[in-house]
Amino acid sequence: MVNVNQNYLKLGAGYLFPEIGKRVKAFQQANPDVKVYRLGVGNTTEALTPTIIAGLHSGVDKLADVKTYSGYGDEQGNTDLKEALQKKYAKLGVSLSLDEIFVSDGAKCDSGNIQELFSDKSVIAVQDPAYPVYVDTNVMGGRTGAFDVKTKMYDGIVYMPCNAKNGFFPKIPNQKVDLIYICSPNNPTGAVATRKQLEEFVLFARVNNSVIIFDSAYAAYIKDKNLPKSIYEIEGADDCAIEISSFSKDFGFTGVRLGWSVVPKKVMGYSEDSAPVSLNSLWNRRYTTKFNGASNVVQAGGLAGLTKEGRKESRQLVNYYMKNGQLIREGLSDLGFNKIYGGENAPYLWVKTPNKMKSWDFFDKMLKEAHVVVTPGVGFGPSGEGFVRFSPYGHREDIKAAMKSIKTNLKL
Ligand code: PLP
Repeated sequence: MVNVNQNYLKLGAGYLFPEIGKRVKAFQQANPDVKVYRLGVGNTTEALTPTIIAGLHSGVDKLADVKTYSGYGDEQGNTDLKEALQKKYAKLGVSLSLDEIFVSDGAKCDSGNIQELFSDKSVIAVQDPAYPVYVDTNVMGGRTGAFDVKTKMYDGIVYMPCNAKNGFFPKIPNQKVDLIYICSPNNPTGAVATRKQLEEFVLFARVNNSVIIFDSAYAAYIKDKNLPKSIYEIEGADDCAIEISSFSKDFGFTGVRLGWSVVPKKVMGYSEDSAPVSLNSLWNRRYTTKFNGASNVVQAGGLAGLTKEGRKESRQLVNYYMKNGQLIREGLSDLGFNKIYGGENAPYLWVKTPNKMKSWDFFDKMLKEAHVVVTPGVGFGPSGEGFVRFSPYGHREDIKAAMKSIKTNLKL
């Protein structure tokens, strides 16, 4: 008999998106002729841009010739791609050395794997609601107690409520915590942290010897020049913060897979006898042990994306999805939804359900009446109850058709 990792058995109601998938599948089986519109999952839909396609092709072509073929590369990523990322940060006034940048196969893996570097006694703080990976991977790692079905919280996690009152960005915790997950622009609320808000967290982290895990997967959606795109734009963050980011949402790499993390050399954890330990060297150790580098073809595509032409095309892609978001917002406003948040410097719209409906009830109503899939807010944490998330990732005509269906069929 093999005992499983008992922590997995604590994992509440399962991951949010499989549950959505299950309900949509059941609906489609019962209504095979109905077209279902998906405004739920944040999965990109538009084709890769020409510059990226050319980059990917060049990666493939290199493999076709023995003179340019390459096998395993550096686990941490190709130097040319890391240099391009280094330049991207330099434009924000952030100076990084190449060995502080780690190229990966996506931000989901990084944001899930990073917790391994920390003791199972570490106390974690998360925005509530939050991208589910932060909580679930810490449950797997044994940093929590049981899930309370009533409160929808795991024992031992510090939930930082994000609500309309605080503009969907939390106050600093009122207790000492070890790891603080911040996602800005936020999935699911679409809120973006201001410089001042991040300064408060950085100060808190430095005073308490905490580490901030900053997820900037949606940074490209920030239009307002006053809003920080990287935690390292905040003074002092380079000794208390790790940043995780992605090519998925601005270059359409959700299926191609490419991301990166930044672990500055100054960020320290501690051994049990309080000796400082470089998190950069631990992450490097993990990388070289458990990862063999992102695909060389994909890295060639990412490198092309970071050229001037590639970035221009990416901005067009981002604008396309943002325009979709605007159409969703306008459509919902016309129907009388008056609490619509996000969607200005972030892709997602965070919408209060009508008549105080619970998130899953409104999800079911939208699916059954309007045939539109949204994401129940409560799936992101207890403070998400009474909200749903609309995603702008879809073809324009599908977004329009979905909004038309909501207008025609949703009984409010
Ligand atoms: N981080 C956040 C906040 C996300 O919402 C997502 C995907 O939806 C990811 C990371 C995943 O990024 P990737 O596709 O690079 O794994």
